[in-house]
Amino acid sequence: PRPHPTVRVRPLTGTEARRGDQRVVHSLGDGAVHVSAARHDATFGFSAVFDAGASQEAVFEGSGMRQLVELAIDGFSCTVFAFGQTGSGKTYTLMGPLAQSDTQPASPALLGLMQRSFTCLLEQSRSRGSDLALSASYLEIYNEQIRDLLSPGPPCALPLRWSKTRGFYVENQLSVEFESLEAIVSLLLQGSQRRRTSAHALNRHSSRSHALLTIHVRSRAHHSPAWALQAGPCPSKQGTLCFVDLAGSERVKETGSSGELSVEANSINRSLLALGHCISLLAKPRGKRTHIPYRDSKLTRLLARSLGGSGITLMVACISPSSRCLSETLSTLHYASRARRVTTRP
Ligand code: ADP
Ligand code: MG
Repeated sequence: PRPHPTVRVRPLTGTEARRGDQRVVHSLGDGAVHVSAARHDATFGFSAVFDAGASQEAVFEGSGMRQLVELAIDGFSCTVFAFGQTGSGKTYTLMGPLAQSDTQPASPALLGLMQRSFTCLLEQSRSRGSDLALSASYLEIYNEQIRDLLSPGPPCALPLRWSKTRGFYVENQLSVEFESLEAIVSLLLQGSQRRRTSAHALNRHSSRSHALLTIHVRSRAHHSPAWALQAGPCPSKQGTLCFVDLAGSERVKETGSSGELSVEANSINRSLLALGHCISLLAKPRGKRTHIPYRDSKLTRLLARSLGGSGITLMVACISPSSRCLSETLSTLHYASRARRVTTRP
């Protein structure tokens, strides 16, 4: 199957509205998005487009996220990633607005794709008589270093290895079992608070790292009925559901970054570039494909399986409707349209 690039246009923020920014992005229905500004006029087609008014629930139900959760339970490697400029709504889409504050609990209507998927997963687990074993790992890639967001204490870098059977994997990453919604949501919040963020002009809580939360779903092997004993124990299935919150793409000059911030911006941009490069090579017909340079960044190594191999991927391109974001918006939409042509074999 192909990834289903979905587009989400956020509303104008208060600041954008107050300074009179024009809305240059409009959804035309049927998956079409129209961008119109002085010298640009373009229409893009996607499997789904969510306009400024779309609720978090509408995005969960309309993006295919529920099906992705079910596929993970069936043993597939599933990935959802949000990408787009800083401040375009990636974290909001994945986690909702209050992920960064621990003072108030998030209103249920505003919960993001992650919490909705956890609920769905736990409901399924309960309806199957709890024969699913669930565990979570949470990593960030910051300046090309992998850090475990679940391990207490000061962050330390974990090595990324490759093996024939496992592909790329992170050595010594913590994997924590959970059985309730409260438990996994609390892991998510703890981990998110350890993420590297820093304030700059575009977004006060801008994420400076790529974060990957992976849920491992293992079907516990059943006690074999007598007839199955000859065939050996029932094989257990293991699926994964990985949520990727990419750091925003942005130009150093627009964010007013300097010093340490520009080192960050460069490594963020380098891995996003590597990701874009892999996606555009994967989009070529199978026969014409050359080598896919997954090794160019940690991000592409970790996503190799879901992008090109046996995974199923849902991509959410997040964009701002503001005229000031026009060039980033066009580049996000081009990126997403290219990803439409990638196919995988789960
Ligand atoms: P990113 O993670 O892409 O940098 P955020 O998710 O932090 O961006 O969003 C930037 C700001 O816009 C936040 O204040 C967020 O609450 C707001 N926002 C984003 N998407 C929406 C939306 N769909 N509806 C309302 N507010 C949104
Ligand atoms: Mg973010």
